[in-house]
Amino acid sequence: MNVAGAPPRPERPGQGSTDGAARATPAVELRGLVKEFPGPSGGEGVRALDGIDVDVSEGEFFALLGPSGCGKTTTLRIIAGFEAPTAGEILIRGRPVQGVPPFHRPVNTVFQDYALFPHMNVLQNVSFGLRMAHVPRAEAEARAAEALEMVRLPGAARRKPAQLSGGQRQRVALARALVNRPSVLLLDEPLGALDLKLRKAMQLELAQLQQQVGITFVYVTHDQEEALTMSDRVAVMSEGRIHQVGPPAEVYERPRDGFVADFIGETNFLDGTLDAREGGRGRVRLSSGRKLVGEVRSDGLETGAAVRLAIRPEKLALHPRDGHAGPGDGLARLDGAVERVHYLGTDTRYHVRTDDGVVIVRAQNRHEGFADAFRAGDPVRVHWDPRHASVLR
Ligand code: ATP
Repeated sequence: MNVAGAPPRPERPGQGSTDGAARATPAVELRGLVKEFPGPSGGEGVRALDGIDVDVSEGEFFALLGPSGCGKTTTLRIIAGFEAPTAGEILIRGRPVQGVPPFHRPVNTVFQDYALFPHMNVLQNVSFGLRMAHVPRAEAEARAAEALEMVRLPGAARRKPAQLSGGQRQRVALARALVNRPSVLLLDEPLGALDLKLRKAMQLELAQLQQQVGITFVYVTHDQEEALTMSDRVAVMSEGRIHQVGPPAEVYERPRDGFVADFIGETNFLDGTLDAREGGRGRVRLSSGRKLVGEVRSDGLETGAAVRLAIRPEKLALHPRDGHAGPGDGLARLDGAVERVHYLGTDTRYHVRTDDGVVIVRAQNRHEGFADAFRAGDPVRVHWDPRHASVLR
């Protein structure tokens, strides 16, 4: 799937516009990347990447999101130069980097396990790369101190890594990666070792830091919430391929296929066949014979194709089926009975049994007593705006 041709990234305060210039050179371009690892003792190899095409814009916070083993780390390692691709090309700021060793690429990597030198103090750790590049000691230390300010760790310069908390160590690793101002910072699950609360706090901080320094971030995570909250754009990967690239709201609201809809957030899937297509809409005939309309999101779907109608639980609403007036015109509906009710504080999840399977409805508890509105066994009508339903392959 060709996902090149990234849309222009949203303008951020304080950043200059490209002023109608032709599309700016992307920070990173991946063209037809394939990576095959040999199998053990000549056995069948692993195709870790199966044709990755993507552009990362200058100054963008770009997330590679996908389940374990989908090829995120391999992609990052190829950009960094730790691995060579089997086929394909990598350009950094328009320059092909084939054969350029990692330390000569304008990129730096932050790993989950920090990889700090235990015998050096924080300042030495952060200034190490500059010293290796023969930057005079005083200048290297001044720049390291500045980088420590940036990651909000100015007081810890003389401490050893063992005297720091996990969050502080990760800040040191970040400072060390930022100190020589790389064009692109590659981050491989950098918050993975932190507890949930610290992780959430660091997510916000990291996103702010990226805006402040304006360096392109390519961020690997398997945590969809992390990818959605932090990134300008997300690439959703599975089995060495990119399924969709887009801003968080787009991949969430308009998934291109069943994998994306399922991997990001929670989705109800109703299986059926595409009965008719008109414009961007499709009518799906469910196994019960019922026909429902949704927006066709996957490419190349023909009438008669096996499809899935995908709808997020929070887009669904419940209405009692007690003879009173039902939901208004133009809404899609499905009848069923409440099977289970889960009270979750902010909202309530209802499992509704219909002729086409169980549908999950998530309703916000806007006022007291709302959660008790429906009980197990109640006959209900589930309804939604058809614009919120996606017809997917
Ligand atoms: P995780 O989230 O678990 O780190 P990932 O998405 O980063 O996963 P990769 O580490 O890129 O996935 O691995 C992609 C595939 O390539 C996996 O099947 C993995 O087992 C395989 N793989 C990665 N590195 C090697 C290697 N050096 N030799 C053989 N196979 C490898």
